[in-house]
Amino acid sequence: MTPSGARRARSAIVALCLLMAGGCAVAGHGSFVLVLYSNGRLVPGNIDVEAGLRSAIDSSAKRPVQIFSEFLDRPEFVGEAYENTMTTYLHDKYADHPPAVVVAVARDSLDFVLRHREALFPGVPVVHSAVFASFPTPLRPMPADVVGVPVDYDIGGTIEQALRWHPKTERIYFVTGSTPRDRQWDALLRDKAARLGGHLQPEFLAGLPIDDLTARLRELAAGSLVFTPGFYQSGDAQWFSPRDSVELIAQASAVPVYGTFSTFVGTGAVGGRVPRFEAMGRQAGEIVNSLLGGAAAASLELPERMPNTLNVDLRQTRRWGISDADIPSDAVVEFKQPTFWEAYRTAALIGATVILLQAGLIAALMLEHRRRRKAEVALVQRGSELAHASRLAIAGELTASIAHEINQPLAAILANTEAAELMLKSGHRSADEIGSILADIRRDDLRASDVIARLRALLAKHTIARQPLELNEAIAQGCALIEGEARRRSIELVMRPSTNPVQIVGDRIQIQQVLINLVLNAMDAVDNLPEPRRTIVVAIAERADSVSVTVSDRGHGIAPDDLPKLFDSFFSTKRRGMGLGLSITRSIVEAHGGRIGAASTPGESTVFHVELPIRVEAHAGHQERR
Ligand code: ADP
Repeated sequence: MTPSGARRARSAIVALCLLMAGGCAVAGHGSFVLVLYSNGRLVPGNIDVEAGLRSAIDSSAKRPVQIFSEFLDRPEFVGEAYENTMTTYLHDKYADHPPAVVVAVARDSLDFVLRHREALFPGVPVVHSAVFASFPTPLRPMPADVVGVPVDYDIGGTIEQALRWHPKTERIYFVTGSTPRDRQWDALLRDKAARLGGHLQPEFLAGLPIDDLTARLRELAAGSLVFTPGFYQSGDAQWFSPRDSVELIAQASAVPVYGTFSTFVGTGAVGGRVPRFEAMGRQAGEIVNSLLGGAAAASLELPERMPNTLNVDLRQTRRWGISDADIPSDAVVEFKQPTFWEAYRTAALIGATVILLQAGLIAALMLEHRRRRKAEVALVQRGSELAHASRLAIAGELTASIAHEINQPLAAILANTEAAELMLKSGHRSADEIGSILADIRRDDLRASDVIARLRALLAKHTIARQPLELNEAIAQGCALIEGEARRRSIELVMRPSTNPVQIVGDRIQIQQVLINLVLNAMDAVDNLPEPRRTIVVAIAERADSVSVTVSDRGHGIAPDDLPKLFDSFFSTKRRGMGLGLSITRSIVEAHGGRIGAASTPGESTVFHVELPIRVEAHAGHQERR
């Protein structure tokens, strides 16, 4: 059988099927879908239809379905010769590989398929998409295996919506082109315009050269609107896609532009009540899926029309003063400017979290700082109390010598008083001698009260003062407090002041406490040693930016193992020692910004060395309460 003979036989079988069942399943035909578009490949409506079609087929087909696309490239390519060329091409290409389903997109394609399907795709069901119901169909009724959901661009609904938004409208300008299809639109719009309310004046800008058209549009007065299905060709024979023509119209127009296709949203037009091309493609894809799944075309229950939805460009509604609240809630609104929250939500959330964390951290640090400060104050307080307690302990150690120092002048006073009494009784009344005795009594009294005053100063609880003081003088006063003790113990206390006075900033009583601690320890170290070794030297020497005070003795020294523990609290080698003196001494020295150390040759000598910063002028007079 020749190929054309085989095709005829197949056609006969299909025709029989159609007669018997009002349609026949596509099983047995090719396995791919052929989509035939009316216009060119890049016409925006086609791109949207194809996206919808492919998404529907891809999402529900059981196996991958191949889709081939052909384009009639209307309206640029027309005429008998072109049509013959196309049919020959399609015939030769698909004769031996017939598609399972043909999808005809838009009116020209459907008309073409209806005219040539017997020759090209006999028995192959046809699904139409994006076919405008208002244009007449060559075949009525449509064959049972040609199915689809037609569209009915809601021109009346679009104009009604526009009038609601622009209630002062008096004129509507209908813009169309010059191809036969454009003229068909013009006729249809004139028919619709005739049915508009009487107060509205329709104007028709049909088939104008581009320059004339844009000039007219630019001059449109307020109270006018433009409605257009776009056009393929202008009056001066320039070709356009409908979308491109609407872009030109919207750019020129001084008044809002409404139109028929969803693809016009984004060109500068406001929009229209229309079905979306993607939805048309998806609807066709679902029908294809049913047919590929074995359903008969005639058995499909399909909606009568594609639903219309209001599609708008939010930038344009705002541009023409339409309130967002006046846009119906079911409208498809495109080009929404994202709110700050929508646009930067993630960044804002991250930023807010960082700020919150930072705030939390700062609060925690401030709290920590306050706690630390409190703890420091408490520590200083404790330190001061401890230092005071230690001074009381020193006083305890000095009791014998203090008693001696007070007793001495008291005894002298007593002796002098007795001598004076004797002189008076014996009648020996030399005024000079009595005057000399009274002077002695006064001197001894002052001596005793001086001892008590110094002791009171050492023992009184006082606020730590950081004030300028001359170190030689402060140390000499400290030595005076323990000179009596040294004498009592037969120890020589030698003080070697620095060549020049040295100013430091600090607390006089605490500096003296340091000295007394070190000297008392030195006294303990030399206590039982022979005479030549019972000398303690306190020396003050000025350095570049510090002053050193050394307390040296030739006592029993310190064992190397004990040296690192000297300044630890409760370290003592003495039978009745508390082991707090040196640890308190170090705290005081460090609180004055200085340091303390010790060096010793066991059995021979020990030197304690204190280094304190010299007063810088700016610190003068500065007092700190702790
Ligand atoms: P305490 O005098 O109560 O023992 P300190 O803290 O004042 O406490 O002294 C700690 C220890 O350091 C002393 O027990 C002693 O062993 C040692 N020490 C201090 N000064 C000297 C010194 N000049 N010579 C030898 N040992 C010393």
